[in-house]
Amino acid sequence: MRELNFLSTGNLKWMEREDPVLVSDDDAIVRPIVVSRCDGDTLPLHHRVSRAMQVGLKTGLIDPSVGNICGRIPFKGPFAIGHEAIAEIVAVGRDVTARKVGDQVVVPWSVSCGTCPLCRRGLTSKCTTTRNGRTLAAYGFGPASGSYGGMVSDLLRVPFADHMLVPLPAGLDPLRVAAASDNLSDAWRTVVPYLQQRPGATVLVLGGGAKSIGLYAAGLAAAHGAAAVDYLDTSDARLEKAGILGANPHRLTQSGAVPNPQGYDIVAEASSRTAGMRRAIRATSPGGVCTAVGYYVGTNTGIPLMHMYANDITLHLGVSHPRAMLPELLDWINANHFPAESVTSSLVSFDDAPDAYAERTTKLVLHRPAVVTS
Ligand SMILES: [Zn+2]
Ligand SMILES: [Zn+2]
Repeated sequence: MRELNFLSTGNLKWMEREDPVLVSDDDAIVRPIVVSRCDGDTLPLHHRVSRAMQVGLKTGLIDPSVGNICGRIPFKGPFAIGHEAIAEIVAVGRDVTARKVGDQVVVPWSVSCGTCPLCRRGLTSKCTTTRNGRTLAAYGFGPASGSYGGMVSDLLRVPFADHMLVPLPAGLDPLRVAAASDNLSDAWRTVVPYLQQRPGATVLVLGGGAKSIGLYAAGLAAAHGAAAVDYLDTSDARLEKAGILGANPHRLTQSGAVPNPQGYDIVAEASSRTAGMRRAIRATSPGGVCTAVGYYVGTNTGIPLMHMYANDITLHLGVSHPRAMLPELLDWINANHFPAESVTSSLVSFDDAPDAYAERTTKLVLHRPAVVTS
């Protein structure tokens, strides 16, 4: 079968490998039908970061976690890339009872067991069982995060299938939730739980780094009744999309000033830069919460701790835990017809993945028809 491999910056190709097989009775084999590109994948695809990261890891300027997730030589090709997919189930092990061949399911980016204490707390991306001592157990990050392969492939093995695979609600177009495995769930956690606690709160989204996450967050905040959603970016195309999704678009200027100097109850930092992080914290109102979704790899970040102390600001950092939030997210999107697909800026045939996956576009989605009939 084919598996898309990252070779080097801007350079990908299909590589052949043996079809995965059921290893355990609770495994499933799935066939991805809609795969989207995580915002994080554009870091090695569009920037020659590997050498600088090796030097940074050696000199202590880059946090050792980067090496734990991506290997001592980060983004060293070839490795199988991709970790956002909707798939159809093509085979299940004997102990899989809640899912069946033909079901269309979301495959979360991180692999989890569903029963360990961390999974039971909803921290499924820190599952003790699957990590087995590693920092993460995940698809598409290379061997340091496990041998699960990448999701831009003809077939994938999914362990703990009854728990891991989340069925699409009836009638929900897989293209609408193409990024549910990661970026859409990541956006959800930055705004929705806080708006549920504080209806009518004000929201600021700093976009442009985690390009799709910022837009999903802006749209989700507007649709969850925020009093105002200000969205900052430098891209005309994304500013226009943010407006269509119900946010107030503002061009990010050199000064970095935010539209409301009084600050915001909820801030989503998706610029993926430490300067953006500092700006986001200073734009958070007293008692507010700022969630940052980028990779902040440097060890010297200049986070304004005294400002946070003096203003009672909560900073939430951490990997997202899509498995725990997917059922609520999928049902809400289906019931409210939330147009998440409008964030997709390039929709391409699955077969064209090697060229398309390196495209400089906000959100790339690959698709192909389902073949299994249940
Ligand atoms: Zn990701
Ligand atoms: Zn677990």
